[in-house]
Amino acid sequence: MPTKYQSILLIGPPGVGKGTQGKILGSIPGFFHLATGDMFRGLDKESEIGLEFTRYSSQGLLVPDFLTVRLWQQHLEQLIAKDMYSPERDVLLLDGIPRSEPQAEMMDDLINPFMIIHLVCEDIDEMVRRMQRRATEQGRPDDADESVIRKRFDVYREQTAPVLACYNDEIIANIDALGTQAEVLLRILSKIVPALSK
Ligand code: ADP
Repeated sequence: MPTKYQSILLIGPPGVGKGTQGKILGSIPGFFHLATGDMFRGLDKESEIGLEFTRYSSQGLLVPDFLTVRLWQQHLEQLIAKDMYSPERDVLLLDGIPRSEPQAEMMDDLINPFMIIHLVCEDIDEMVRRMQRRATEQGRPDDADESVIRKRFDVYREQTAPVLACYNDEIIANIDALGTQAEVLLRILSKIVPALSK
C-alpha cells in the first residue's frame, strides 16, 4: 500500500473562486493543483467518457462517483509517471474532488487531507455574475444557462456541502471568498503556511 497523497482540499460552491485560487497556489513550488473540472474538460469530447461527462455537466449534475474517482486516480498516476506531480515533493491541491460523501469515502485510502480550505460566500448573485463572466470568457456551456447554474448550487448544497462533515473540524479553515484575488490568497496562505510547518 503506497503512502497517502498529502492533500489540501478546496471546497466551496460553484463560482466561489476555487479554480482561480487553486491555479495561483499551484504556481508556487511544492504545490500541485488538480481540478477535476479541467480534467473532465480535457477529455476527448467524442470519447465514451467525454460524452458521459457532457451528458451530466450540461444539466448541472455530478458525473457518477465511481467513474469520477477511477478517472481521477488514473489521471493522477499519469501525472506521476510524467513527473509533473510528485507525491514526495508536492502537496496536492484538490479542487472539485471529493464532491460527494461516497467520493470522500472512496478516496479515504488514497489521500491524507491535512487542511480543508472552505471558501465561503453568502452573495449568490456575485457568484452567478462570476460564472456568467466565465461562460463568455471560456465558452463553458454549463455556465451559460441560468437554470443549470441554479441546479449546480442545489447539487452543491445537497451533495457537496455534506463532505465537510466527513473531516475533523480542526482541519477546516472557513475563508471569506469576497475581496480581491490577492486578499483571498493572503487569507488562504495564512492558514496553509503554518499548517505546513507543523
Ligand atoms: P465549478 O468550478 O464551477 O464548480 P467544475 O469546473 O469544477 O465547476 O466542474 C464542472 C462539472 O464537472 C461539474 O458540474 C460536474 O458535472 C463535473 N465534475 C467535476 N468534478 C466532479 C466530481 N468530483 N464528481 C462528479 N462530477 C464532477
